[in-house]
Amino acid sequence: MKKPPITIKCECGETKDVAYGQRWLCDVCQRSWNTQQIPQEEYDGLLRRVRRHQLEVLAAAGLMAAVFVPLIVVVSSGFIYLIPIVMVFWLFVLLPFWRRRYRRTARSAPRWELHPE
Ligand SMILES: [Zn+2]
Repeated sequence: MKKPPITIKCECGETKDVAYGQRWLCDVCQRSWNTQQIPQEEYDGLLRRVRRHQLEVLAAAGLMAAVFVPLIVVVSSGFIYLIPIVMVFWLFVLLPFWRRRYRRTARSAPRWELHPE
């Protein structure tokens, strides 16, 4: 799974998304930033919250499959016509709901004060 990047805001105003553990040399003012200054356990806490959201989506998808596959296979293949309705529900109700929650987590993500090296 993709790890959330860390957004570094340079003192000169430049911003850049960098993977945890990487350094970034600002193009504008040549300051060097090192995300390893962030404590590992704090970044892990952020990762856990993000992963939990991803697992919720997988669980919801699994649940739908667990409901629909037996319905179609065992009960009636007519249920296959319900799938577009479920897809619409998924796209326009569940995903926006999930994205809002995800954004709230992202917004409450900790901020760290880094020091140029
Ligand atoms: Zn800079």
